[in-house]
Amino acid sequence: MLEVMHLTKKYRKTLAVDDVSFSVPDGSIGILLGPNGAGKSTIIKSIAGLLRYDGEIRIQNFPGRSPEAKKVFGYVPEIPAMFDALTVAEHLEYIRRAYQSDITDEETGALLARFELEDKKDKLGNELSKGMMQKVSICCALAVKPKVMLFDEPMVGLDPKAIKELKDVIQELSRDGVTILISTHMLEMVKDIWEVMFVMDKGKILASYTREEAAHRDIDELFFTITE
Ligand code: ATP
Repeated sequence: MLEVMHLTKKYRKTLAVDDVSFSVPDGSIGILLGPNGAGKSTIIKSIAGLLRYDGEIRIQNFPGRSPEAKKVFGYVPEIPAMFDALTVAEHLEYIRRAYQSDITDEETGALLARFELEDKKDKLGNELSKGMMQKVSICCALAVKPKVMLFDEPMVGLDPKAIKELKDVIQELSRDGVTILISTHMLEMVKDIWEVMFVMDKGKILASYTREEAAHRDIDELFFTITE
């Protein structure tokens, strides 16, 4: 379970997130949908413990930014960052040590195989395409064996095949009980996978939906109104 309560974040004079509360149940796929500047990344980065904020965040019942919370979530940033001088395998080893993950060599091998990265494991960070870097970034996040996964605009810049693969991975994780939160400004990309949705604009959640409720409401229309 991921809970965000009265989250408020100000960057100097900009109120990026204004008293936002929501929760994503265990194993569900939650979406933060909103146009550029809505505050989605700020929420994801706050949950990932990268920002100071007001309000309360609980990840698997651990307070946000606590050492316990850090061990139960994985974070895939919008722009995958890799060390130029480390290989793919070394990135995974770095994560294993930094997060004291109990992932075994066999499990690491299976992770690389799942993402078709076995033949890339000796490649350096600066030798990979954006799509490959994103796969490595997801592997690194999964290497901590997370209970909660945070994806910031994960579909941007990916080709249709990579998007399909990513959605498959997200659905597999959800089936395995991992709680997922994805930020996106592209409703089309998540239409077939979402379970709870929070539509945002200007730092606020305008509407929340569950899949069952959405049949009776028109997310398209609301989203069109705020993005036109
Ligand atoms: P995008 O998809 O464009 O990243 P977003 O919904 O993720 O949009 P945020 O990146 O969270 O939105 O930005 C919310 C608001 O906070 C915007 O007005 C943005 O300009 C501002 N903002 C974000 N980061 C900073 C920062 N480091 N310093 C100052 N203002 C910031």
